[in-house]
Amino acid sequence: RESQMHSDGQTASVLFERGDGLTYNDFIVLPGHIDFAATDVGLSTYITRRIALKNPICSSPMDTVTENKMAIGMALLGGIGIVHYNNTPEAQVEEVRKVKRFENGFITDPVVLGPKNAIADVDLIFQEQGFSGIPITEDGTIEGKLVGIVTNRDVDFEPDRSHLLEEVMVTDLVTAPEGVTLNEANKILRQSKKGKLPIINEKGCLVSLVSRTDLKKNRDFPEASKDESKQLRVGAAISTQQADRERLAGLVEAGVDLVVIDAAQGDSVFQVEMIEEIKKNYPAVDVLAGNVVTTNQCENLIDAGADGIRIGMGPGSICITQDTMAVGRAQATAVYQCARYCRTRGIPVVADGGINNTGALGKALALGANVGMMGSMFAGTQETPGDYFYKDGMRVKKYRGMASVEAMERGGGKRYMYSNRNIKVAQGVSGLVVDKGSAYDLVPYLVQSLRQSFQDMGHRTIEDLHQALENDGIRFERRSPSAQREGGVHGLMAYDEPFREGGRERQ
Ligand code: GDP
Ligand code: GDP
Ligand code: 5GP
Repeated sequence: RESQMHSDGQTASVLFERGDGLTYNDFIVLPGHIDFAATDVGLSTYITRRIALKNPICSSPMDTVTENKMAIGMALLGGIGIVHYNNTPEAQVEEVRKVKRFENGFITDPVVLGPKNAIADVDLIFQEQGFSGIPITEDGTIEGKLVGIVTNRDVDFEPDRSHLLEEVMVTDLVTAPEGVTLNEANKILRQSKKGKLPIINEKGCLVSLVSRTDLKKNRDFPEASKDESKQLRVGAAISTQQADRERLAGLVEAGVDLVVIDAAQGDSVFQVEMIEEIKKNYPAVDVLAGNVVTTNQCENLIDAGADGIRIGMGPGSICITQDTMAVGRAQATAVYQCARYCRTRGIPVVADGGINNTGALGKALALGANVGMMGSMFAGTQETPGDYFYKDGMRVKKYRGMASVEAMERGGGKRYMYSNRNIKVAQGVSGLVVDKGSAYDLVPYLVQSLRQSFQDMGHRTIEDLHQALENDGIRFERRSPSAQREGGVHGLMAYDEPFREGGRERQ
């Protein structure tokens, strides 16, 4: 069987030897032999030297993709989110802190009000955020002493919405002390028959809140990416600019696990200096360096101390770098060449951009990537920053490049070195994506299809797959333009797409 297989299809080195750049779409992986179930597939991997993930997925550092909600979802589901830096250092640090403080089942930053707030304030919170169980603290801040609670039933029948909360709040509270486990909290909630359980510290100040609603839908996340002290893992992006050194200090202080140095062309003295500085000042933090697309670039960053390499220049769905700058590389070629080199140095690689369906993610991994970083795939889910709105009858959210004119006006574009001048050259566009529901549904779907993809390829783990790549045990084939058409949906007038996977490319 072995010899037959070797006479069919091409090895990766033959596929790429012609020297013209290939995209994920240009080739296909030939099926292998299946001798295991899809459930036997293990997708665990490393994103950097020391950070292991159960699933090879990562959300992009973009202001329409990753803040704390997405990063929490990513980490709970076995991946990791990279918090963007198109904000003030304080805001970014706060996002990181929220992820690190996250405890499954506990609302660690509940919305609170003070006794002098009016019922109308509860109405407003309900309209904007959808809940009405509000702890009342002495001074109306989250650190304040807990003095009561107001829920739906306390205000439902009150015709005058200007009444103060001190008149309607309930003050003899059932609470639990800080440090209580979720199990214990659940027991207390069951006994008290209340909808909310405030958790307080020894000074009587509010620490967090447990809600009965969450009890009912509480899910276990066995694959969650956690550090030694069981807090969720999170990454944060920074630039190489001087001002971001302070940002970095705050991020480290907040417990960031992974720093991503975000540059469109990562092979620069600025980045080399930054890597060396981080490795010297914060040896516990892993550095994901990039972006790069050639082996020489990888070498420079790894020599400087990079713990992981991020690959991609121009493949992003919102990206116009190749059109604007004349540089870049087709992503499949970039991933294959860089991964092959980085593997000899023992450094994981992240394939960043252009992954618009699970097939592309499977191909990236088959070419040697350890993790796929995705923006458009997750854009439009509930966990991304920004609000939904309607456009032509579709529920949509904004998705934009970090070097789009719009994002740069909000302070972005630091990734692109030209931003100090008066003329900013855009390297990205701004657009809309349709509502994709929750990442908590999308990611498991993605992971399951990836397991099946591995099964079809005949490999149980990412490490197996990479070994096969090295030993020519996995075969590829180029796809002609008509083969690409044949492989996509064709001959239908209209069809439904699962999750609309980033608006599957139509050929
Ligand atoms: P309520 O009784 O109207 O407060 O709503 P539920 O407790 O039934 O549901 C509120 C949902 O919103 C739960 O899933 C909470 O975890 C979630 N949530 C997120 N942040 C907050 C918050 O600050 N306060 C409250 N009460 N719920 C929150
Ligand atoms: P729901 O979420 O609207 O069903 O409301 P809850 O079950 O949380 O609250 C029902 C009533 O109990 C309201 O009057 C609340 O103010 C009150 N309540 C909520 N939490 C507590 C508590 O910890 N102790 C006491 N005594 N009352 C509470
Ligand atoms: P996607 O998953 O949408 O195809 O690509 C996301 C990736 O595109 C990001 O992780 C980032 O590397 C890259 N990116 C984000 N914004 C811009 C931009 O404005 N210009 C360029 N060239 N790339 C961008």
